[in-house]
Amino acid sequence: MTIYNCPGCLLPDNDSYCKKCLKDLFDGKKVNHILSFTRPEFDKVKRESGSRLSLSGIQLKHSLRLEKNKLVLTEENGQYILKPISSGQFENLDQVPANEHLTMQIANQVYKLNTAANGIIFFADGEPAFISRRFDVLKTGKRMLQEDFAQISERTEDTHGKNYKYDFSYEEIGELIKKFVNAYPVEIEKYFRIILFNYLFSNGDAHLKNFSLYRSEIYGDYLLTPFYDLINTSLHVPGESDLALDMFKEGFETKSYKASSKYTLPDFIEFASRLGINEKRMLKIFVEMLSGSEQVKFLINNSFLNDKLKVKYLESYNQKHKRLET
Ligand SMILES: [Zn+2]
Repeated sequence: MTIYNCPGCLLPDNDSYCKKCLKDLFDGKKVNHILSFTRPEFDKVKRESGSRLSLSGIQLKHSLRLEKNKLVLTEENGQYILKPISSGQFENLDQVPANEHLTMQIANQVYKLNTAANGIIFFADGEPAFISRRFDVLKTGKRMLQEDFAQISERTEDTHGKNYKYDFSYEEIGELIKKFVNAYPVEIEKYFRIILFNYLFSNGDAHLKNFSLYRSEIYGDYLLTPFYDLINTSLHVPGESDLALDMFKEGFETKSYKASSKYTLPDFIEFASRLGINEKRMLKIFVEMLSGSEQVKFLINNSFLNDKLKVKYLESYNQKHKRLET
């Protein structure tokens, strides 16, 4: 498996993980970008272990643990999450790992959003998978207490039906952040940025379980966890709605939304003000989130997506970007 860009940060002239990515992903251990087992071998082990594959959205997830310099499959004490290509009805499924990797890298590198450390890794037979480091496992091996917003809002399939992860609004998540997070002024800006990011990069499946709080070891209060599961869903589910949840609670719609049925700049201005972000900060965030196009293009080109989807990815970004310029 010859590669030319780092399968972590996508910077060119790297035939494996660069130094920085080895540090971020594996604490500096020289881990190869090719796993020691093939995809069929992996499927066989999973079947024989009798473990049930958990299907979250369109993706399968498995746990890995680092033993010396080697990643091995594990049922317990996983340090990494591996998402191989899964099968199903959606389009371009073989491109899902490259898409998630690219989207996570753009979030972190271009927009400085805190994300789980991640990369592309290959099975021994060359098939790519997405790998991310579990941020809830501390260096000591201890697990951080974290709760997603389905838990925080006390919604389950039993209490709120099959659609419970989607039957909520981003405004209401903001209200819960206000209620539980002391560092609200700082954390709510991160939250606003990720909603804008999800819109710009067509992450149309950011539901209640894709946002979480954890308890800070040092201060003992609640903070947003790093962001995860960021992916441009429009490449796999064409025609999906722009956002997974309604932006506003109780069916509120802005005038512009009523006219076009699309979220545009006035919606985000209203949203920011409802979150309690003042105008000056809001403007600064807009300017930052609407810049970086050149770096976005650079990362798309260096990504592991095929050429057809590189074009589509850039198109979807340009289209959303344009909507926010007006
Ligand atoms: Zn790198």
